[in-house]
Formats: sequence, structure tokens, C-alpha cells
Amino acid sequence: MAKRLVILGGGESGVGTAILGKKKGYEVFVSDFGQIKENYKEVLALNKLEWEEGKHTEELVLNADVVMKSPGIPDKSPIVKKLKEKGIPVISEIEFASHFTDVETIGITGSNGKTTTTMLTHYLLKQGGLGVGLAGNIGKSFAWQVADNKCEGYVLELSSFQLDGIKDYRPHIAVITNISPDHLDRYEYDYSLYIEAKFRITMNQTEDDYLVYDADDEAISKWLEHNTVKAKLIPFSLSGSNKKGIYVEDNNIISTIRNKEFTMPINELSLEGKHNVKNAMAATAVAQLMRIRKQTIRESLSNFQGVEHRLEKVLKIQNVQYVNDSKATNTNATFFALDSMTTPVVWIVGGVDKGNDYDELMPLVREKVKAIVCLGVDNQKIINAFANVVDVVVETAGMTEAVKASQKLAEKGDTVLLSPACASFDLFENYEDRGKQFKAAVQNL
Ligand code: ADP
Repeated sequence: MAKRLVILGGGESGVGTAILGKKKGYEVFVSDFGQIKENYKEVLALNKLEWEEGKHTEELVLNADVVMKSPGIPDKSPIVKKLKEKGIPVISEIEFASHFTDVETIGITGSNGKTTTTMLTHYLLKQGGLGVGLAGNIGKSFAWQVADNKCEGYVLELSSFQLDGIKDYRPHIAVITNISPDHLDRYEYDYSLYIEAKFRITMNQTEDDYLVYDADDEAISKWLEHNTVKAKLIPFSLSGSNKKGIYVEDNNIISTIRNKEFTMPINELSLEGKHNVKNAMAATAVAQLMRIRKQTIRESLSNFQGVEHRLEKVLKIQNVQYVNDSKATNTNATFFALDSMTTPVVWIVGGVDKGNDYDELMPLVREKVKAIVCLGVDNQKIINAFANVVDVVVETAGMTEAVKASQKLAEKGDTVLLSPACASFDLFENYEDRGKQFKAAVQNL
């Protein structure tokens, strides 16, 4: 008898899993507590897949042999609790799909820089002639691509939620870009649980695999001191102090990987900012492990066009540069945005605060920020934190108003930086919507 696969969540990963499950002979049912988007409903209909929305019907869910839960659904949701009580395995899309492909994957996780590093890595490998796919939290789901079976490898962006649901998944190369507190609401407000979740990416790796990681990162280094991983360790670091793996010396990236001397001047990287030097080192490490030619890596690192909403230069108007960093939804991302600024900054900040501690930003704000434009429903925490540090703090209630206020405050040579350090859901649909509204408002100035 066919095994019953129940899928919780009818989004990209859910629909992809449904298609793959059906192809592999499962009896498939998709259950979404919210509404399923029209385009996905069409795909489900086209593939003769059964589904429901607006509810989880227990008789149709609790009889599953295996459940794929979309990463957006928390473990504490009642239906997941019931499944776990009954001992029914609840896994992630990455886990499910990885059982149906033999090709190697590169798994990239971290608190910040996942998308940038994943896209850059994919670009390097593609330029090097490898037929690799790009999946995970980006674009078409991994499961769907595995069902199509066209790629000779995958570069996967993996959130901690995807990793929470793995059992056997084993990336040939794992990358941890960095770890800082985020999403703690999903980890019982216990930072160590979140760190553990990130390191699950290494748990099935063997001596034949690799772990590429930020050696300057405190949380990562501490974890590695107290735990062992089987994979070969490839550290990257902005300081050349222990000359291991890949590091920076005299403004050059230097790699010792595979005993091949590789150097690349930092000023030839297309992406700016220290954090992007780190992302470039991580991607280079992977490319070298995958035997991409040095010349190709260098060219690709200087040609890569960056990712929308990540320190994206929008326009220069009257010699004021407008920068869209809407994806900065936590203080660590904003730290690197401010750190990379080389002019006085008018800083647009605010939104839904996920428990921010603004102290780490203080020195940079003192040094670089001339005015703050708050853009959130509740700005009190930001005002309290910075009122004594920055002369001008204004409150705005929408993007057009925020951009207009910024234009008034900025002088020739300044930068207007949208780097909110907060989630966007109070005033916007999501960070993309926020970034798009910013760009439109700038274009209308
Ligand atoms: P993620 O997918 O992990 O959210 P992104 O590449 O989308 O990461 O970048 C998210 C935010 O973090 C952006 O504001 C970006 O400028 C910033 N960022 C990118 N790389 C790093 C890094 N290595 N460390 C800290 N912040 C980073």
C-alpha cells in the first residue's frame, strides 16, 4: 500500500514536496491552515493532488506515515504537537527531497549573509561550468527540482527551521556564515538552542565532507571548542593571524585550500563592505573545494552583481547616495551596513523589533549617523536608545514621508541608508515590499 505523505503548508516547499512525493508513489495530501496562493492551487490541480485550506482536518492529517512541515510553521502549533505525540515523523522539505537524489549538495546557513553567499557561490560554480541548481529558501524549491531531476548538484540556502527538520540530510560542503541571536521566539528564547539548530547542518557529515565557517565568530568558535564535527574544517577570517583556510592579509584574500595559492585584492570584489569580504571568502572556499579555476573565481568575484535589497545602491540624487538594505531585519546586519558606510549617514530605521539590543551599534552610530528617520508603528525604543547620541531624530509613518524627510536632512556627499534592523510587518507586507517602496519613493524625488 502506498505510504501517506501529508504536507503542512501549501507554499513553494509544500507544493514542490507534493509533486516529488506523488512522483515517488506516495499518497499525498496538502493541508494549509491559511490560504493557498492561486498559482499553487493551479499546480496542485494540474498534478491531481488533494488539498485543503483554512484548516487542518485531523482525520486527514494524523493518519500520515510521514509529514513534511513547511519551515514557517512552528513546532508549538497544535497540529504539530499532536503529530509528535503520535510518533509520526515530521521532517523538512530538504530532508524529504534529499532521499531522492544522489547528487552532492552544498548547504549554506547562518544568521546573516545566507542569500548573498548562496547566490554568489552558485554564480561561481556556474561560471566554472558546473550544472548546479539553486534552491532552499531561494526560488524554485529543492523538492520540485529534484522531481525534475536536471541538476548535477545543488547550492541550498538553509534556515535553522529547515535544519530543525532534518534527520539524514548530509551536505558535502556545509557553510555557516555567522551566528547572532535571531528568531529566538522559535527557540524558547534560548540562544544556545538556536546555535545547536544551525550546527545540525554538520551532524551527518563524514570525514569526506567539509565545513566552511567564520573563524572570527564567537558563537561558532565556542561551539567548535566544545563539540566535534567529522567534516574537514575550513575556516575563513578577516584577520590573517593563524593563516588557516582562507583569510585576509594586506587587503588581499589569501587562500590555502587544496594547497593552491589563491589571492584576490579586496578592492576588486564587486560587493562592498567587510561582511561581503566574508561572504566572498566563504563562496571562494566552496568554489576551490569544487575545483573551479582560480582565474574563473577571480573574474566571477569581480563581476557578481549583488542581490536586491542587500546594500543595494539605488540612485544618486544631488550627490546624495540612496542605499536599500531593507533585508537588514536584525541589528547584526545593520551593524555591517553602517560599518561599510564611508560618508555621513541619514539612517532610516525601525519596524517590528525582535528583541533588539542597540548597544552594539552605538559606536558606529556615534561616528557616522547625522540623523535618524524612524519608520515604524512604535519607535519609542529607537528614540530612547539614540536620542542622546544623534542630534536629529524624526518620526515618520510611511515610506514616502521617510524618504522625503531624509532628503531634507541629507547634504551633498551624504548617504541615505534604509537599514531597518527590524522586521517589516507593521507597515509593509515583507522586506521586499519595504525595499520596493523605498526605491519607488527615491525614484519619485
Ligand atoms: P540572509 O539570507 O541570511 O538573511 P542576506 O544575504 O539576505 O542574508 O543578507 C541579509 C542582511 O545581512 C543584509 O542587510 C546584508 O547586507 C547583511 N549581510 C550580508 N552578509 C552578511 C554577513 N556576512 N554578516 C552580517 N551581515 C550580512
